[in-house]
Amino acid sequence: MNEDQLLQEADRRARDYVAGADARRVFPTEQAIAALSAFDEPLPEQGFPAAETIALMDNIGSPATVASNGPNYFGFVIGASLPVAAAAERLAIAWDQCASTEDGSPAAYAIERQASRWLLDVLDLPRSSAVAFGTSATACGLSCLAAARADLLARQGWDVVNDGLYGAPEVKVVVPASTHVTVRKALQVLGFGWNRVIKAPVDDKGRILPELLPEMDANTLLILQAGEVNTGEFDDFASVIPRAKAAGAWVHVDGAFGLWARAAPQLRHLTLGVEGADSWTTDGHKWLNTPYDGAMAVCRDPQALARVMNSDAAYSSASADAQKNLTLEFSRRARGIPIWAALRSLGKTGVEDLVTRHHAQAARIGVALGEAGFEVLNRVVLNQVLVRGTDDAATLAILAQVQNSGRSWFGGTVWQDRPAFRISLSSFRTEERHVDQLIDLLVRIGARG
Ligand SMILES: *Cc1c(COP(=O)(O)O)cnc(C)c1O
Repeated sequence: MNEDQLLQEADRRARDYVAGADARRVFPTEQAIAALSAFDEPLPEQGFPAAETIALMDNIGSPATVASNGPNYFGFVIGASLPVAAAAERLAIAWDQCASTEDGSPAAYAIERQASRWLLDVLDLPRSSAVAFGTSATACGLSCLAAARADLLARQGWDVVNDGLYGAPEVKVVVPASTHVTVRKALQVLGFGWNRVIKAPVDDKGRILPELLPEMDANTLLILQAGEVNTGEFDDFASVIPRAKAAGAWVHVDGAFGLWARAAPQLRHLTLGVEGADSWTTDGHKWLNTPYDGAMAVCRDPQALARVMNSDAAYSSASADAQKNLTLEFSRRARGIPIWAALRSLGKTGVEDLVTRHHAQAARIGVALGEAGFEVLNRVVLNQVLVRGTDDAATLAILAQVQNSGRSWFGGTVWQDRPAFRISLSSFRTEERHVDQLIDLLVRIGARG
């Protein structure tokens, strides 16, 4: 089989896989998982034929995938892959560009530059911000927090990039008590120490209580969230950010999925004032429905990000806006390309429709489950529905039955010390009939339980 036939064969299998997404079991059977032992083979002395490798991957691997690229998956704000984004990714893989600098790929540089302009436009963030296309909101958040620390310390005359943290003034880090675990991870990796981070009290929706915020000063790093992971709620940016900025703090916003509410006039009010922050992170691979892994760091002061992320060397120097000088990666693929393709094909109204539709679907599920006797724990302001059964045992039983049914999947969580489950609407493939099926399934299981 030559290269062209092999790629056609892989593409045929990929197309078959996607075409079967609706009918596929959402979580694989035990048999399909057991069959994965076929991958337990010694590294071959002599390699196998390429087509056989692709066949093994598909025949054994595909049945044991989770159908998150289908319409019936409601876990974690995972999102599916828009066809145009998946197709752009395919072509970009054929290009195999090292998209670090304009020299490495004039095409990738130009497309990512356009993607960054459009991102700032669709999310209505300061147009002169730097946009870095990284692997995840975790990695992008880490970059922003590093930039924040360097900037805060620089204002006190401390050059952390060159002199490090030995003897540096202490940065006071404040997060909502409900902050996402990956913010904790980023802070830990940066050496802030989780025990030293101030967890600001939150209300029953997971939002920071402005009146209980600790005192902030010019050495404070305040992290807020757009889209709390259980409730989908937003911190009160309009009241908190101006206060923090007046004190001289750096404000970072974790908006992995919630920041996309800005693209929908109907939901935009939730994000009021968020544009006043210093840096933001959001994902492409969640709500924008681009393939993994693509996320964005947005930094109001491009120099602040470039200072900590610069990786110019004698053999590789580039402009401050080269992606290698904004992201954690040095060699990298152009993660902005599928994001560009998604934005170009959706347009502003397409993004708005996606976000608005998921909110409406989530709201509909919330109402239906409430009427069916479930306890809906949140207001469903966004795309998250947080639910409980009549008691903890019922909640856990319902969750297990749905997950084992193969017809739908969503995850469990703990909300205010008790089990709950979390239904996320974030796949462009989810139509009203899939929502109906989910409601039917839950009502039947709930009634039995
Ligand atoms: C998913 C998520 C993250 C982390 O994003 P990754 O892209 O998975 O690293 C951070 N914050 C929130 C609120 C999230 O939902």
